[in-house]
Amino acid sequence: MPKPKLRDATDALVRMTKTTICGTDLHILKGDLPTVAVGRILGHEGIGVIEEVGTGVSRFHKGDHVLISCITACGKCEYCRRGIPSHCEQGGWILGKTIDGTQAEFVRIPFADTSLYSIPNDADKDAMVMLSDILPTGYECGVLNGAVKPGDTVAIIGAGPVGLAALLTTQFFAPANLIVIDLDDNRLEVAKKFDATAVINSTDGKAVGKVMAMTSGKGVDVAIEAVGMAETFGLCQEIIGAGGHIANIGVHGASVTLHLEKLWSQNITITTRLVDAVTTPLLLKTVMAGRLQPKQLITHHFTLGDIINAYDTFGNAGREHALKVILTND
Ligand SMILES: [Zn+2]
Ligand SMILES: [Zn+2]
Repeated sequence: MPKPKLRDATDALVRMTKTTICGTDLHILKGDLPTVAVGRILGHEGIGVIEEVGTGVSRFHKGDHVLISCITACGKCEYCRRGIPSHCEQGGWILGKTIDGTQAEFVRIPFADTSLYSIPNDADKDAMVMLSDILPTGYECGVLNGAVKPGDTVAIIGAGPVGLAALLTTQFFAPANLIVIDLDDNRLEVAKKFDATAVINSTDGKAVGKVMAMTSGKGVDVAIEAVGMAETFGLCQEIIGAGGHIANIGVHGASVTLHLEKLWSQNITITTRLVDAVTTPLLLKTVMAGRLQPKQLITHHFTLGDIINAYDTFGNAGREHALKVILTND
């Protein structure tokens, strides 16, 4: 692809150094997001070095090492001012969707001052890539929306990269029990390494009974849905206890059944959210302090030129035991 050019004064041109592939990119390739034009450069995660800035960019300069947020924020519109830049009138999730993204040698970043972060000199670069999307997504949509409290019993449905990011960040709040449910034993093994207190392979359809047995029949305080299917959202409704929170992260492509006939009297809160990436500064500090080690989520490395193989590996995550793949542009 030709090298992109600055278009607006608030743009920055970034030379990518590392990027990754998101499950959302696979949805786009399958045609689940028909608004994405054919020929679009995908990718909304990564880090790089500033190549050039527009005249309206004041916080970044040529040569700066930057983290690219998956959410582009103008910083001025009503939604940005309300703290939900995922709905920014001129931004939001646009990278690799309505404008060319990060899976290339260069990317044009609109509203650079409010959409990029400086990377500390001593940062682990691979770990930084996890801050573009999956850590803020797991934390904001799962943990914060789920209102996890000390002593809670939390169930995470789906042990893909985002579910595991929720598993890592939910531990900020010292829950008593962390139950992870998935269909893949390998991913459940990873969840155990990330301090899940119990794992359940739901292939046999007996997950509800097992969770109820673990919780003395009461159900869980927080159910984090990190899959995006009717069955997994249904599972959340069956295991949620009185006063509980169901925090949806999953990208749903089809309708789900809401069992209000069972839940109306149970003081349940159901939340949805598109990641706003407003917790990125906080998460960056916890990573730099060694309190959060997202590098554990990375299983494979490729060069950017080997991206087809990287997609093949990530697209067959079960077979390949893949979580996040890092693509390096040397
Ligand atoms: Zn993503
Ligand atoms: Zn805005």
